[in-house]
Amino acid sequence: MQKKILVTQSSMPSLEEYIEEIKPIFESKWLTNMGEKHKELEKNLKEYLGVKNISLYTNGHMALYIAIKSFDFPGGSEIITTPYSFSSTTHAIVQNNLKPVFCDINEKDYTIDVSKIESLITDKTVAILPVHVYGHVCDVEKIDEIAKKHNLKVIYDAAHVFGVKYKGTSIANYGDISMFSFHATKVFNTIEGGALVYNDDNKRLILERLKNFGINGPDHVDTVGTNAKMNEFCAAMGICNLRHIDDEIKKREKVYNRYLERLDGIDGITVSKLQDNIISNFAYFPVIFDKEKFGKNRNEVMEELKKENIYTRKYFYPLINDYECYRDKYDSNETPIAKRISDNVLTIPMYADLSIEDVDKICDIILKK
Ligand SMILES: *Cc1c(COP(=O)(O)O)cnc(C)c1O
Repeated sequence: MQKKILVTQSSMPSLEEYIEEIKPIFESKWLTNMGEKHKELEKNLKEYLGVKNISLYTNGHMALYIAIKSFDFPGGSEIITTPYSFSSTTHAIVQNNLKPVFCDINEKDYTIDVSKIESLITDKTVAILPVHVYGHVCDVEKIDEIAKKHNLKVIYDAAHVFGVKYKGTSIANYGDISMFSFHATKVFNTIEGGALVYNDDNKRLILERLKNFGINGPDHVDTVGTNAKMNEFCAAMGICNLRHIDDEIKKREKVYNRYLERLDGIDGITVSKLQDNIISNFAYFPVIFDKEKFGKNRNEVMEELKKENIYTRKYFYPLINDYECYRDKYDSNETPIAKRISDNVLTIPMYADLSIEDVDKICDIILKK
């Protein structure tokens, strides 16, 4: 049978390396609740990312939910975000009893269009929740400026930008809090997992308490918290994967460069170029198809690849403001650029161990007339 190529493949250490890492857990029998592996991963990540504070969570979504919760915004307050993201971003706002307000994206890098943020600010706006997508970063300086001017918090969905540097420093140093996802499909994974990174030391207490039922010492529960702790086996996977992350990103770069050689400059195809002042992590390879110029649309390319056992994803489609659970309250025509990109985008396979031969095979199928 022809081998399957999926849109992504998780990075993993060798079985031996992982077994070595989990042996102490079998000795201590301490499986979760901020154990030794958890502490070690926190320390290693802080160093790797070059950030001041980090808290670990069971997944990225709960981390984002808790990040928002930690500000204790009045119910019904508005948070400006984009509909061009994974469901998690908007769900985390709504689950906090707050109201998402959708801003369009820019067509250059698919992040929030900073020129459209200010017109959406009302007296109920409390924060901006921009999304760094595909490894591209938002216009962090402009967002900072707008937030300062209007006294808003900035919480980044940084799920796609693990390890990305902007002007030589970690992208996570911008905004009040950034959320990383360590899900199996992400550039760096802990099987399931996530983190919050933040500069304000005073935030640590509440961010840690919210993930452990609001417990504050043996006899005190002072916050309505949830359970979102990272367990020791996930932390151990993270410790192993972090040892290899630079090699993994280098391998992704090779895949990225080959795709670029083959697909850039083709009429009717738009690939995303690296931004200025960025060290990328090559997280995804989105391609925008223009049927009039290219002859095939996104869905046709998707089907042709599928026939050859190559699986792609319409990432992000549908737009969040078109979801069944949100579309009664929103109109996706109000975010026309996001709509057009969402209708025409296909993310093609991208992972460290994808061979150049397979990249060529994928490109041959895409380009076949
Ligand atoms: C993966 C992802 C999340 C959620 O992270 P999980 O770890 O899967 O909970 C949130 N936002 C974006 C943009 C993501 O890609």
